[in-house]
Amino acid sequence: MRLALTPVSLLAQSISDFWAIMSSLLLGLLTLLLLQPVVLFAWQDYKDYKLYELKIEGAEEQNLVRKWSKENPLWDFHEPKRNESLLNVMIPPEEAKRFLETLRNYHLEYKVLIEDLAPLVHAQRTENLSKKLFIPWPHIDVLSAFYTHSEINDYLDSLPERFPKRVQVKQFGWSYERRPLKVLTITNGDGRRNKPVILIDGTVHAREWISPSMALYIIQQLLDNYGDNQELLQDYDWVIMPVVNADGYEYTHTDSRYWRKSRRPTSNPDCIGTDINRNFGYEWGHDEGSSSDPCEPIYRGERPFDQPESQVLRDVMLHYKGRLNFYLSLHSYGNYFLLPWGYTSDFPDTYQDMMSVADAGAKAIIYSTNGIYSYGSTYYVLYPTSGDTADFAFGVVNATVAMTMELPAAGFQGFDPWVSHIERLVTESWVGVRAMAAEVIRRYPA
Ligand SMILES: [Zn+2]
Repeated sequence: MRLALTPVSLLAQSISDFWAIMSSLLLGLLTLLLLQPVVLFAWQDYKDYKLYELKIEGAEEQNLVRKWSKENPLWDFHEPKRNESLLNVMIPPEEAKRFLETLRNYHLEYKVLIEDLAPLVHAQRTENLSKKLFIPWPHIDVLSAFYTHSEINDYLDSLPERFPKRVQVKQFGWSYERRPLKVLTITNGDGRRNKPVILIDGTVHAREWISPSMALYIIQQLLDNYGDNQELLQDYDWVIMPVVNADGYEYTHTDSRYWRKSRRPTSNPDCIGTDINRNFGYEWGHDEGSSSDPCEPIYRGERPFDQPESQVLRDVMLHYKGRLNFYLSLHSYGNYFLLPWGYTSDFPDTYQDMMSVADAGAKAIIYSTNGIYSYGSTYYVLYPTSGDTADFAFGVVNATVAMTMELPAAGFQGFDPWVSHIERLVTESWVGVRAMAAEVIRRYPA
C-alpha cells in the first residue's frame, strides 16, 4: 500500500533527501581529496610533454621515422600508416631540443598540436575519478566512466547471480603481475552445447581505453538488452575477454596514461614490456611488422608467446578451435576493419568472404552515423604486422572470419576519449559489430 504524503511529510521527505544527497556529495569530495596525494605520488603528470604533427612523404622519410623510433625510445611515435602523410609524436621536455634539431636537420615540416599535455591528462583523470565516485559497486555504467581491470573483474563476477542460466565467468590464467584474466561466455540459456562461437577480445594495447568500454557495452547489449538482440544468440554463443593486457591497462590508470605494451621486464633494463599484438606464434618474428628491440613500441618478445597474457588469449582461442566462426579484436584508433594477413601482401583464399562481413559492418555504420571505415588486409590498409592476434586466429585456430577493429579516434591523442565521448563511440561501433555478427551468422549457419 502506498501512503499519501501530506505537505508536512513531503517537506520532511525533501529535507531528508537533501541531507542524503549532501552527505553523499561530501563523502565523494572527501574521497577525491584523499585520493589526490596517492595519485600525485605515482602518477606521471606529462608536464611539458608536447604533441607534434609531422609531415612524412615517401618511403625514405618513413624509414627515417622508423630509424628515429628505434634510436629514441622516448619519442613516442604514433603508428605510421600507409598512404597517410601526417604522423603524430609525443615528446617529453628533456628530448624537445634534440627532437627539433633533428627535424630541422632533415628539413621535415611539423607543427605543435599541444604545447603541454599535463592539464589535459589531469582534467581527464579527475573527470573519470569523480564520475566513478557516484556509481555503486559492482555496478558498471559503461557510458559514465572508464573502469580499472579489477573493477571490470568485479563486474564480470557479479553477472552469474543476475543471469544464472546465461553467463559463465572463467579464469583462463594470470597476467605477469598475477592479475586474474577472466573470460565471459554468454548464451541464450537454452542449454544447447557446442554452438559456433563469436570471440571478442579487448585491451591488447593498454592505452586504448575505448576498447574495454566497447567490450563491456557488447556484454550489456547481449544481457540487459537481450530483447533487441536475441537472434544473435539463437544459434551462436559469445565469448568476451574485455581486458587481455591487464598489467599494462592497470598501469595506465595508476602510473602512466599512455602505456601501450605489457609490463614484463625485457633483456634491456631501461625498456619494459612487449607488444602482445606482435607476440603471437604465427609468422612471428618478421622484421617487417615487428621489432627485436625491447625499446620499440612493436617489440615482439624473445620468443612467440613468451608473455603470459598472450598465452592466455592463445589458450582461449584454442579452447574454441573448431567452433570459432568470428574472432574480433577491439583496438583504437583509426576506423579500420583489418583482416588477415598482416605479415604478407598475399591474400587468404577466403578473403572475399571476410570482406563481405567487413562490408556489412561498414555499410551499417555509414547508414547509421555517416561514420566511414576503411577495410581490407592489415598489410595493405594499415601496415605490415608480424605475430598479431588476428593472423594467429585465422592461420592456426582456423577462425572462419578474423578481424581487428580499430575504433574511432577521440580525445587529444586519439586513444584518450573523454567520458563524454564514450556513448557516441560505443553506440556507433555496436551498429557495426552487430551487423558483422549478423552477417557471420547468416553466412555460416549452425
Ligand atoms: Zn592497438
